[in-house]
Amino acid sequence: MVGIILNDNSYEQDIRELLMAYFPGRSFVHEMLPGLELCLIGELEENRRWFRMQVVFWGDYSPLVWGTSPAEQRELDHFDEPILVDYDNRTDTKNKIKRRLYVILKALTGKRLPWGSLTGIRPAKIALTLLGEGMDERAIWEHMKEMYFVSDDKARLCVEIARREKELLSRLPEKQGQDGYSLYVGIPFCPTTCLYCSFTSYPIEKWECRADEYLDALFRELDYVAGQAGRHPSCVYVGGGTPTSLSAEGLERLMKKLTAAFDCAGAVEFTVEAGRPDSITEEKLAVLKKYGVTRISINPQTMNQKTLDLIGRRHTVEDVKDRFRMARGMGFDNINMDLIVGLPQEEAADVQRTMEEVKALGPDSLTIHSLAIKRAARLNTMREAYKDYKITGTQEIIDMAARYAREMGLEPYYLYRQKNMAGNFENVGYAKPGKACIYNILIMEEQQTIIGCGAGTTTKRVIPGENRIERAETVKNVEQYMERVDEMIERKKSLLG
Ligand code: SF4
Repeated sequence: MVGIILNDNSYEQDIRELLMAYFPGRSFVHEMLPGLELCLIGELEENRRWFRMQVVFWGDYSPLVWGTSPAEQRELDHFDEPILVDYDNRTDTKNKIKRRLYVILKALTGKRLPWGSLTGIRPAKIALTLLGEGMDERAIWEHMKEMYFVSDDKARLCVEIARREKELLSRLPEKQGQDGYSLYVGIPFCPTTCLYCSFTSYPIEKWECRADEYLDALFRELDYVAGQAGRHPSCVYVGGGTPTSLSAEGLERLMKKLTAAFDCAGAVEFTVEAGRPDSITEEKLAVLKKYGVTRISINPQTMNQKTLDLIGRRHTVEDVKDRFRMARGMGFDNINMDLIVGLPQEEAADVQRTMEEVKALGPDSLTIHSLAIKRAARLNTMREAYKDYKITGTQEIIDMAARYAREMGLEPYYLYRQKNMAGNFENVGYAKPGKACIYNILIMEEQQTIIGCGAGTTTKRVIPGENRIERAETVKNVEQYMERVDEMIERKKSLLG
């Protein structure tokens, strides 16, 4: 248990996120109680001009005897001095507080975090922004290390990814850059619900009879978007859930509507997440081909049968291989696979087996996720039932998976982090040259307005020149979505109108 006692909550979330990275899985309280491992007491004083913090630690004191950088040492030398609060620059003040807290926590626990004091989900966006401002790569690498205490390797990865992102984004036709938009379509159905799932996902078995009704509501949103934002999205991405959970007829209805309402052929990419192998049939792949889908995902997450069974995916490793080869045979030349490191009961050898199997298939892109246990996931809500499951996610395993990706000719091209990620790591997308998913970069680095249609989707409007995002969300509940679709359209109107 960790305590945070503040006389003002302006920076509570920033402080808590960094403490969570140091003390994963602990509960947080806002008072001094017996049994605390650590307590941070922070005060805004003298008309809230200064922030002063004190950290009391009852854990195992294990100071680092080496490896403190000059920048960290400079920060540590001032550990008991107050921090000047700049009300015109919240980001700067937040960074100063987190830098100070990071060096204190590192000194007390002896533990380094690969991402240093950074807790945000878009570390590559910092590098991409600086690259756009003309800073050279070496200077960005140094900035990430000095400003946020990011490790050498992570800073290098960020710079490499930012360079590739910049190059890929420059390929978007001019009118499709910041002035354009991309379309996301959410199909919230899946064959079964995975143990770690926190997305909007309903079992198709129960909902099949109402899938047409869902599509009717979705089509109303799509018609509004085509009329308001135009027929020419930069990218079209159909995700979920698992869109191929729809019947072949349902999928055909969806594809027909999408290609009639929007110029999908003119988009730089048209992706459909086939996702679960147990939802893929030859007939459905033929529908996707017929309507010009350029990129699909077939996501095993793991190639170990015992884990697939454990996480509630009712398909076999052979199903993955079979559907992958089927799609290749039908001419799909851009197939992505998603994998997760840190799945329950998986050790390094299991991940290695997965990587060997995937390498033999040869996908065009790969996204390697670190398991994130979100609040809504069964793995969290039914913690007691799953408490004996061992979750192993280490830097060595992540590095091994990354090595395999590179051996397969795949280069890292986007990166993001999630809250509650096992081991405080990151998700990295790798692709063969020419096969990167531009949509992933646009959404992760917030480079373009993304319009989301369907239950549980978010529309994010990028305000050009202001480095600001405005959002509108649709309800997650499918029943509610179908009933209230006009209200969802009104929300979009307020944002886009
Ligand atoms: S396939 Fe994805 S969306 Fe569907 S249940 Fe599993 S994690 Fe959730």
